[in-house]
Amino acid sequence: MNMAHWLARTAARAGGTPALFHGQEQVADYAQFFRAAQGVATALSARGVTPGDRVVIFMKNVPEYLVVLYGIWICGAAAVPVNAKLHGKEARQICEASGAKLAFVTEDTGRALAAFTDLPCIDVAAPAFADMTASDPAQIAPRGPDDLAWLFFTSGTTGTPKGVIITHGMLAAMSLAYLADVDDVHARDGAFYMAPMSHGAGLYALVHVLRGARHICPASGGFEADELLAAARAMGPLSMFMAPTMVRRITDAATKTGDRGDGIKTIIYGGGPMYVADIVEAVDWFGPKFVQIYGQGECPMAITVLGREDVADRQTPGWETRLASVGTAQSVVELGIGDAEGNPLAPGDVGEIMVRGLPVMQGYWQDTAATSKTIRNGWLMTGDMGYLDADGYLTLRDRSKDVIISGGTNIYPREVEEALLTHDGVREVSVLGRANAEWGEDVVAFVVAREGVTEAALEAHCLAQIARFKRPKAYFFTDDLPKNNYGKVLKTELRARLKEMYDD
Ligand code: AMP
Repeated sequence: MNMAHWLARTAARAGGTPALFHGQEQVADYAQFFRAAQGVATALSARGVTPGDRVVIFMKNVPEYLVVLYGIWICGAAAVPVNAKLHGKEARQICEASGAKLAFVTEDTGRALAAFTDLPCIDVAAPAFADMTASDPAQIAPRGPDDLAWLFFTSGTTGTPKGVIITHGMLAAMSLAYLADVDDVHARDGAFYMAPMSHGAGLYALVHVLRGARHICPASGGFEADELLAAARAMGPLSMFMAPTMVRRITDAATKTGDRGDGIKTIIYGGGPMYVADIVEAVDWFGPKFVQIYGQGECPMAITVLGREDVADRQTPGWETRLASVGTAQSVVELGIGDAEGNPLAPGDVGEIMVRGLPVMQGYWQDTAATSKTIRNGWLMTGDMGYLDADGYLTLRDRSKDVIISGGTNIYPREVEEALLTHDGVREVSVLGRANAEWGEDVVAFVVAREGVTEAALEAHCLAQIARFKRPKAYFFTDDLPKNNYGKVLKTELRARLKEMYDD
């Protein structure tokens, strides 16, 4: 089934319902949204795009994003969404790897791309795009559940990005799991797109289309905490996806102005570790509005969920442990913990997290070597380490490559980071291993701290919380941590900084 049918159905049954917004301004209802996407599909076919072809979307978050995405699907092609913050060179690499026929761009990204490739680009603000949307309406091309819908290039905190083949079937499974496990969606709700639509935030558009909810792109085109708080007051109930660093930032912004986040219905967080101290503060301030998900491009948004009640629970004995977990399996997947060969381990043992089920990819785009390394015995090997407790809650340790091995003992940076973050003066922290002749590696911490915080204070704090051998042997105070375009801390960059410090 082509995912565009959900849009066709909503347009048929509730065509006059408000659909697309730029800031607070409505730009289309569902009938207009579908009609414009049908026009785009016709225009794409006229330009030689046929079912199975790939079309790049290198655009910042604007309402046309969804018109383009559905237009591509209606004509049977697949979308290749590229993060608008990528360099033109990186975007060219993805255009080439996907073999895309053309790209949709916004003015800024169009300029960045044009400097590196002569791939035909269509600027969605140009009259040519308006002409496309007004073309004759296309019928929805038939697509099967195993057909490519979205070619997702992983964010690449580790080396060259690989293209995950996300099919129409995976998207349907992921969206239905949202309704079953994450949150309900009603027509009065609004999906607010602050995180890049080329990633999880955009994937969540689908379930909002199914339910005929509103889609709101902030006028700033990105993440501005104050803009969100104002939009929620004016246009709520709003739901949105946020990286943990964004949650930290809205809590800071809201506590400063006394804003309790009226109009925010649900904040789904994930994509990186959320520290217990940060989420406790966020729930204390905003109330039970938070749901955590754990996913990866290879099983988009749909591995586990820590529901609203669990995130807000401060009563059940052991609530802290659950809050530090990523929750339980979503309804469409099965979880396992395996050793390096993919053999299942017992509950409680730390090993590699394995997933199988409906939203799990069959493989990477034109990369059988990477596929056979990642899919073993029918399981997706996530590359994340963790353990399952007796109640089915999954706790992530670190990616296998991030584990610090000091004197033959494994130290999980996340545990040390959690301990440091309970110190009032620590805003952000990243812990990693430094080469050490005697121990192999020892533990060091990069810290964004409030003024006056000393190394001695942090040392005393760690000694009171964690085993002595886990405490950092050195602290590096910094103004901020390097992050990728999705807000994930780039440990690779911190490792490079360390190397520079010690090689000189
Ligand atoms: P990507 O494929 O770019 O979405 O990155 C996925 C990776 O982000 C996962 O394999 C995890 O390492 C990490 N990740 C995703 N969700 C969470 C979460 N809730 N907590 C901690 N790490 C997460």
